[in-house]
Amino acid sequence: MSSRTSILEHARRVREGETTAVALLENYLERIGRHDGALSCFQGTFDDVARARAEAVDARVAAGEDPGMLAGVPVAMKDNIVSRGERTTCGSRMLEHFSSPYDATVYARLIQAGAVPFGKTRCDEFAMGSSTEHCAFGPVHNPWDTNRVPGGSSGGSAAAVAAELSPVSLGSDTGGSIRQPASLCGVVGVKPTYGRVSRYGLVSFGPSLDQIGPFARSVEDAAALLSAIAGVDVHDSTTIDEPAPDLLTRLHTPLENLRIGVPAEYLDEGNDQSVNASVHAAIETYRELGAEIVDVQLPLTDVGIATYYVIGPAEASSNLARFDGIRYGYRAQLRSGETLSDLYARSRGEGFGPEVKRRIMLGTYVLSAGYYDAYYKRALQVRRLIRNEFTSVFKHCDVLLGPTTSAPAFPLGAKSDPLSMYLCDRYTVNANIAGICGVSLPGGFTEVDGRRLPLGIQLQAPALGEETLLRAARMFEAATEHHLVRPDLDFTTGTS
Ligand code: GLN
Repeated sequence: MSSRTSILEHARRVREGETTAVALLENYLERIGRHDGALSCFQGTFDDVARARAEAVDARVAAGEDPGMLAGVPVAMKDNIVSRGERTTCGSRMLEHFSSPYDATVYARLIQAGAVPFGKTRCDEFAMGSSTEHCAFGPVHNPWDTNRVPGGSSGGSAAAVAAELSPVSLGSDTGGSIRQPASLCGVVGVKPTYGRVSRYGLVSFGPSLDQIGPFARSVEDAAALLSAIAGVDVHDSTTIDEPAPDLLTRLHTPLENLRIGVPAEYLDEGNDQSVNASVHAAIETYRELGAEIVDVQLPLTDVGIATYYVIGPAEASSNLARFDGIRYGYRAQLRSGETLSDLYARSRGEGFGPEVKRRIMLGTYVLSAGYYDAYYKRALQVRRLIRNEFTSVFKHCDVLLGPTTSAPAFPLGAKSDPLSMYLCDRYTVNANIAGICGVSLPGGFTEVDGRRLPLGIQLQAPALGEETLLRAARMFEAATEHHLVRPDLDFTTGTS
């Protein structure tokens, strides 16, 4: 298998009988068997169910039918997206044995497109984190350097694609959890416009911020996967009633008169030097491609984290109230003399990990009667200002360019202080706060301790601007080779 085969090419081969969906799946399962011991990207794979699914695709081909745009393409999903009868743990003891009675809309749409979902990838507990170290079942390792984190919270989905344990995958992004791990693992990760993709069947963290989106090794693969899952859904009233975007027809046609806005605040001196160097190189690349570079300002960049850590925890604290030890999830053993309140308290106390508890406490506090106006209401007002700031900046440019993260992947255990972890999302949270779309792309490399580590650059576009966003991304990708470099998976076998 060529490592550069696109998913549309895989699907074409399956449809035309040049290969089979089963062979494609086996190839990836075999790679997982070889490499995932060192990486722990997967919480679990559903080999038999996936084989049956792949066989069904092959049977349709044999019967002369068209199984769909993603015929036979294996897809890994973050372990917070539910599927019937398959375990979804959310990286939490609370849901360690949970399997859903229904399929997420994205899951159903993948099957409809002929894809073969085959496993769930590790994530931070309830998607809260930036390193996947908050997963109750153990961390994921970065394929570029297994002593380092893959980013988070969708670290398993990002690392799986970087290590080619799955051709593409799905993650969720509440404040950066697709773009940040994509950046740290050297893959493409897209956070769609709020409402572009149904959240039905995504375990809620901050429902006004959450979006599901793709990880891929190329912009085209990401566009294909996003096309398959996007669009209005009767099960999610926040989906936007717009036709699913056509992201593929003109993807490879360069945009004319493209205006790239570079916010002064994004080239902060506090960023790792290699990060600023990669953004400057990207600016040059776009200039050579004929784009106009526009200097812009986004002064509210710095208040994003504070705003996010009021709104996100507020929503999380009310959402996670459903995990009470009664309805579903972990239930503590009642000891004699204990009451119903003890059951609630101990089930939640034992089922949730420390970061989730921190968020619940923070959220409960900012929503409490005495503090609602001072914190939650205030944060919503700042949210409006952030949104307005993007709207006015997008009058002067089509997309914004900057870094995804301020530094490359950090060592496991390096950020034990919660605030330093929260600051990882400085450049990503505002897109969620404003509901706009963004993508992280491979933007270069730096060398740390003798290991090559990827750096991501981020593009952002207005709400529903995915076509422009991805065409601009593709222009950069076509002019550079960063996305073609793969990590050397010599930690287990001596070969990749
Ligand atoms: N790192 C951020 C957090 O911990 C964002 C997480 C996410 O996007 N799911 O909340």
